[in-house]
Order: sequence, then C-alpha cells, then structure tokens
Amino acid sequence: MLQQALETAFQTAQPFAEGAVATYIPELAKADPSLFGIAVATIDGRQVAVGDANAPFTIQSISKPLAHAWALSTLGPEKVRRRVGVEPSGDAFNSIILDPKSGRPFNPMVNAGAIALVALLSEEGVFQTPGDFLALCSRAAGRSLAFDRQVFESEQLTGNRNRAMAYLMLNNGIIRSNVEAILDLYFWQCSVLVTARDIAMIAATLANHGTNPVTDEAVFQPASIPDTLSVMFLCGMYDFAGEWTCRTGLPAKSGVAGGIIAIANRQLGLGLYSPRLDSRGNSVRGIHACESLSQQLALHAFHPDNHASNLLLPTITP
Ligand code: GLU
Repeated sequence: MLQQALETAFQTAQPFAEGAVATYIPELAKADPSLFGIAVATIDGRQVAVGDANAPFTIQSISKPLAHAWALSTLGPEKVRRRVGVEPSGDAFNSIILDPKSGRPFNPMVNAGAIALVALLSEEGVFQTPGDFLALCSRAAGRSLAFDRQVFESEQLTGNRNRAMAYLMLNNGIIRSNVEAILDLYFWQCSVLVTARDIAMIAATLANHGTNPVTDEAVFQPASIPDTLSVMFLCGMYDFAGEWTCRTGLPAKSGVAGGIIAIANRQLGLGLYSPRLDSRGNSVRGIHACESLSQQLALHAFHPDNHASNLLLPTITP
C-alpha cells in the first residue's frame, strides 16, 4: 500500500513542470531541474522510495528544525526561547526583520532565527566545528553524510543578506561573538549533502520522538519534539505555511535546493526532492506529492481517520 501510494503521488506530481531552480546561491543554479524523488521511512523501520530518491542535494533550510531540536535537546526550552521566538512571521525566509517587542527573531525557521540559534549553540560549546552538525545529521539519517564544499563557498561569497541580518543581531545583542565565524557555521549547516531517503529517515527519527528507528540511536531528546514539530507546523513552509498546513496537516520544512521534510507524528517520515521552486521557494512537485500522500494515507493531523498514533501503522503496509 505504501509503495502504491508513493507511485500515485509521483505520477500526480510529475506533470507539474513549472517553477525554476534557485539561482541566488549561484552553485544551486547548476541543479538538474528534472530530478524528482520521494521516500518514506516508517517508525517501525520500513523504507520505500520512488524516482530519484538517491540523488544528492544540499539540506539548506531543512537543517533549521534539526538545529532547533538539537538546541532544545542540549540546552532546554528556556534558553532557546530567550534567544528566538516561536511566532510565525508571515514574512519571507530571508526578511531583515526582528520582533519589534522582544528584539528576537520571530522563529527558528527564518534565516535570522536559524543564525541566532547557531550563535547560541556555539556560545554554549555545543556547535563548535562544522563537523558537530554533520555528526548530528548523520546520526539522524543513520549513515555518514558529507558536505558540499562548493555550495558552502558559494553561500559564503554571496550571502550578504544573511550577513546584514547577523550584524543587526550583533547590534541587538542576539549574537554575542564573532559574526563571521557564526555565519560560516550557518553556511556549513546549510551545505550538508542528503538524499530524499536520508530526509525520510531524519523525518522518521523526529516522528519516532528523536530515536532513529533503524539504528535505535537516541539523537534528540523526546522532550524536544513537541516544540520542534509545533514550530514546523506553524512556520515551516515560508510564507505558504498556513495554506500548506490546511492542505497536508503535516509539520514540514522546505529548503531552497528543492527538498522537503514532512512528519506524520508517531507514524512515518517523508523526504521529497525536486529542485524547481515556486515563487515562495517551495518545491513545486514536492508540494503536490506531499498533498497526494497526505490524502491517500489520511496523514493530516486532524483527518477523521488519522488516529495520530501508531495504531494506524498496521494498516499502512509496504
Ligand atoms: N542557505 C540558504 C540561505 O541562508 C537557506 C535558505 C533556505 O533554504 O530557505 O539563504
């Protein structure tokens, strides 16, 4: 049933050939626009995929919920909340705007919030070298991942909007250390190479309350998951988050390389990849495929047939 659902989602989304690959990070413009892959990993360890599910791409903003869960797991919610809010901003991911009342970034899913979290994790000695984040992603994916150095260098060279944001946060006391070093960690964080299969396994780790369902390794604290998924639910899909949540009912996050991670809590994780983006920066085919899967498998959090627990699992057979 799972394989059939993936194939149906693939066929449904495949004809949507509009949109364009991201070009504002020059290295991303080289992506093959025709690639399209979907993968699912269930919390009892089953994995199913269709299309280009082994094609590598950079994680980009899909790294943001992972860094958030990492910060919540290692530092606890109070420290994290003092630095970054949990309110949807309704603005684009790279907007140069902080919450006027608190001076904090609105949430960890916009660039400002993600950079502020890197600063906090670095100050606290959790995120000291790029390899620290790579190790975390590798544990969540259940295999050794690598960086794309070209994408890192491209971001570092052209990321002046992020640089402007970071200096504004230095001015506001949200960043308290060397801005360029923090930005480098953030650019490395965005440059982890993954596949749709990896993203599905990372999603299944989040769906399984922080423990990788295949390796059985506890990657995130269970207590970090409710906040992580709530923020994804509210703010994960840029300024499309509300429409997305109504249509799919899944906490999710997209990245400008064309990836989407989505989680059916206590059930399964989805990883999608197709680099053509719409005007908001979300993968066009990824959105259509996710919507189809959510409908076929009744994954929407508030669907009458979704019991929001692994009670549903026995009915989803490969
Ligand atoms: N590295 C990208 C940036 O900071 C990530 C953006 C994204 O995937 O939304 O601009």
